[in-house]
Order: sequence, then structure tokens, then C-alpha cells
Amino acid sequence: MRAAIFQSPGSVVTQEVPDPGVVLPTDAVVRVTASCICGSDLWPWRGINKRGEGRIGHEFLGVVEETGDEVSGIRTGDLVIAPFVWSCGECVHCRAGWTTSCLVGGGYGSDDRDGHLVDGGQGQYVRVPRADGTLVAAPVAPDDARIPALLTLSDVMGTGHHAAVSARVAPGGTAVVVGDGAVGLCAVLAARRLGAERIIALSSHEDRAAIARTFGATDVVAVRGEQAVAQVLELTDGVGADSVLECVGMTASWDTALDVVRPGGTVGYVGVPAGVEGGLPLRKLFGRNITVAGGVAPARTYLPELLEDVLNGTIDPGPVFTSEVALEDIAQGYDDMDQRRSIKVLVRP
Ligand SMILES: [Zn+2]
Ligand SMILES: [Zn+2]
Repeated sequence: MRAAIFQSPGSVVTQEVPDPGVVLPTDAVVRVTASCICGSDLWPWRGINKRGEGRIGHEFLGVVEETGDEVSGIRTGDLVIAPFVWSCGECVHCRAGWTTSCLVGGGYGSDDRDGHLVDGGQGQYVRVPRADGTLVAAPVAPDDARIPALLTLSDVMGTGHHAAVSARVAPGGTAVVVGDGAVGLCAVLAARRLGAERIIALSSHEDRAAIARTFGATDVVAVRGEQAVAQVLELTDGVGADSVLECVGMTASWDTALDVVRPGGTVGYVGVPAGVEGGLPLRKLFGRNITVAGGVAPARTYLPELLEDVLNGTIDPGPVFTSEVALEDIAQGYDDMDQRRSIKVLVRP
């Protein structure tokens, strides 16, 4: 099969690699029909974090080709969505909903606990361990118009939803979304879905702001830093927001988040802490009774309810994909996202 290989910063190529097969009785092999590039795939591409040569990609959906003897929840021919990590669905953490902390789970593009390679999502086939616990079937065809929306359930929509849940977005409340990447935009959609009455999106890019408005933002603040804080406070009569959804993970975005949350409010964070210096200002949190919650999203846990809402038309996160490339041209997709020519790139194997 063909699969994307990360070689070194700035270099991802498509190569011939061995076809995967069922190795363990709990495996399934999925023929990928749509995958995509994640913002986090850009970190090794940009040389920000080190990684060795190997498979890459963790967001995909496709058709089940083969299942191991112990797989009973999905069948050959099912179209399935893969959350961005695989998990057993049975251990103490999975049962509590924290599938990203599964005791036997893991990520795509590296070896499983038995030393067998798990393929990356940016390829033609993936051997998915713990298929019953991981994969969620959707009653649609691989060419359904909702495929882009369904693909977001692999990561960005689940992650945006986690920001909203962690920030305790509630009906009638005010939410501020910091970050206008695919996750931030999905967080706007998630805040609307949970009933926020006022949603203020921080975005200085008109194309992203336009999607934020489509997704439910009632206001867009196009400036940054102290100016953004001043505008949000003005929009909220000096009170600040009940919920702040932090979808960036940098010092500047955290400073903004903590300055626009109202006393007693909550910051829900899903931005991977990439450059947060000095830790959290506990005295500031203490003095204003600010709650901070969040972390890596248990996308598998949220998948069924979000899937239902995509299928019944309540939400359509599909527009976060602003371009498509063929697997053979995946380097172009990385470059387009790196240069911000595209918000998120869908990859067709
Ligand atoms: Zn991702
Ligand atoms: Zn588990």
C-alpha cells in the first residue's frame, strides 16, 4: 500500500510500505477512504518537536476490510470513524470516559504494546488495535456528502467539544473562544450546540472569522492581546465571559483567556501547552475564583453523541476543511497548512 512517511522537518513523502493484516484477534484492518492533516502534525514538520522517520497521521475514517476473531462490534464493510488514539473501552479509565488514558491503548504511527507496528492514518490501510473499543460505525457510504463532517469527529470536533464541556458552557451563557484554527472553530460550534447565547470568537483572519460566524459566533474580535481583552470586556459590560475556551496553548492565548473570564468563570483548555511559560498564576485564579479544566480530549467518548448530531443535521463541522489533496500530493497539503493557505486539509487515499 501507499502511506505517508515523515522523513525530517519539511519533508513528508508518500511511499510503498507493507500491507497491514490482522495480527491480534482484537484488531481490524480499515481501508482508509478519507484522512487529514492535524495542526499537531505540523510541529515535527516545522521542527518544533523532534520525531524520527516513520508513519504519520491519526485522523481517518474508512471501510472495515478484515476483523480478528474477537471483534464483534463492527463488521467487514462497515464505514467506521477512528478517534485519534485507540483504546480498549473496557479498562477502568475507558469506562470512566477517559479513553485517552486507556491502560492498554496507544497512538497511530508507532508500535503497539506487543511491538507490532500500528499504521499512521495518512495511508491507504490501517491496522486498528482494540477495534471494538476504538472504532465507531456510521450508517453512510464512503462518498456521502457528510464525510468531511464525520472526519472531524476523529479529533477536532471532539476536541472543540471537550473545550466547551470543560469550560462548562451552559444554555444562556457567554463564551469566548481563543484560537481560530480547526479546533477553535469547532469549539464555536460546540458552544452553540451546548446553548451558549453569546459566543465571542477571537480571530484576525477574515476567512476564519467567516466560518466562525457560520458556526454560531455572535461577535468576532479581530485584535489581539490587551486590545482583545478590552473589546471582550466592552462587549460583556465589563463582566467577562462565563466560559472561555482556550484552543491555542501559548502564553499569550492563556493571558488573554485568564483576562476575559469573569469572576467565578471557567477556562476550558484543549490547546496543547506548547509555549506556556511560568505556569498558571494561582493567585489570580484564587482571587477571582477561576476554574481551569481540560486537557487531551477523550474523542472516543464524545463520538456517539456528536455522530448523531452530524447525521441529523444539527451540526456540520465539515467546513473546517478548506482544501483537499491526494495522498500522493500530501507534501502540498502540509505546506498549505503551514503557510496558512488552508485551515485544514483533507487527504484522499
Ligand atoms: Zn489531530
Ligand atoms: Zn481502556
